[in-house]
Amino acid sequence: MNPRPATLSNFRNLLDRASIGNEMLALAGELFPICRSISGEGLRQTLARLSEAIPLATREVKSGTQVLDWTVPKEWNIRDAYVKDCSGRRVIDFQKNNLHVVNYSAPVRTRMTLGELLPRLHSLPERPDWIPYRTSYYAEDWGFCLSHRQLQSLTEGEYEVVIDSTLEDGAITYGECLLPGQSEDEFLISTHVCHPSLANDNLSGVAVAATLARALAPLPRRYSYRFLFVPGTIGAISWLDRNQSSVAMLKHGLVLACVGDRGNLNYKRSRRGNADIDRAVAHVLKTKGSPFAIRDFSPYGYDERQYCSPGFNLPVGSFRRTPHGEYPEYHSSADNLEFLSADHLADSLATLLEVIDLLENDLRFVNLSPMGEPQLGRRGLVSSLGGRAAKDDHLAMLWVLNLSDGTKSVLDIAEQYGLYVDAIRRAIDALMAARLLDRLNTEAPLPRTLMAHA
Ligand code: ZN
Repeated sequence: MNPRPATLSNFRNLLDRASIGNEMLALAGELFPICRSISGEGLRQTLARLSEAIPLATREVKSGTQVLDWTVPKEWNIRDAYVKDCSGRRVIDFQKNNLHVVNYSAPVRTRMTLGELLPRLHSLPERPDWIPYRTSYYAEDWGFCLSHRQLQSLTEGEYEVVIDSTLEDGAITYGECLLPGQSEDEFLISTHVCHPSLANDNLSGVAVAATLARALAPLPRRYSYRFLFVPGTIGAISWLDRNQSSVAMLKHGLVLACVGDRGNLNYKRSRRGNADIDRAVAHVLKTKGSPFAIRDFSPYGYDERQYCSPGFNLPVGSFRRTPHGEYPEYHSSADNLEFLSADHLADSLATLLEVIDLLENDLRFVNLSPMGEPQLGRRGLVSSLGGRAAKDDHLAMLWVLNLSDGTKSVLDIAEQYGLYVDAIRRAIDALMAARLLDRLNTEAPLPRTLMAHA
């Protein structure tokens, strides 16, 4: 990411998508083998790796702590798990794939017949080569997951069943990275970090969020950025519980998940439906020129469920490509590193940077020559060469001049005008240089000529 550009706009313009996409893929690859869960050493190890790249504080909430309506569960750790047949061969082996054990399985050491074991085995008959991902966080249970072909190959007989796990008082862990800006108003980026060897859900979100934090860290910022890497549900609930008094600082937020598959971008609005974050993402998607979808809020999905619960009702949308559960590989061993695409990770990151750039620059301006149209040609602001780009720039200046009556922000202008935000920024820069436009000073009254109309 060197040399470091001085502004976010420069950073975006210089972004080498191929290399940053491959960096994100490499980070996901490094984290992929770790057996994560909503607590335990795999989660801590993952956060420790992220803290090498970004200033990440690790927080722990003790088992048994009441957080909002939930209780923090016991901490889960696992060393090994297997099912051995009578010849001593591991027919199901956690060491080969950590999805083989139901995440949060209680410790087990026993022998049982195939008939006794079968109710504990989970497979996907419709996808016979894939191992499903199952969890049992809040009810003590145990089980194994395996491909349907593997299940069908098991013969009658006695099996040795071992899950070398612990379920003890400890803590859940989450990571928090705050990048202070000029303002204490915050932009929240939250992603879950509790899935074991699964790539799109959730390492794509982890890789994109960490890379976004690393990109923003050296750049000047108006907003403060808070990145949360939380175990799903209980992590977000714990953070909200501990930060109830300060969530009002949160002006924009996005939950990132499933951002590395080859599907189109798909945005789920916040519960508010028309928050600035909803408008900014919609505007960027509409002007990007690639297919996309926007959906209304629903109380089903990732941690937007918590941030958008009615007591908080925060302006937090959900940014994803193919939504969870809408691709067959979801929650199975087929959601692996090959399912991720460096190009699509980079596209997700670039889109987020554009949304952030838009909101960072969502300021109000005033036209300093509002009586009639100022003569742009005399000031060298209209290209005599003509052409499409010059026409677009001219049109952008007319829109900015016309709408800059002190009541409309850049986002309002972008929405009304329907063009790429960079064109608006170019127009603003040119008009400010020509002293036809100025930042609205919220402390001072509007220019006399505009007061009557604002
Ligand atoms: Zn999931």
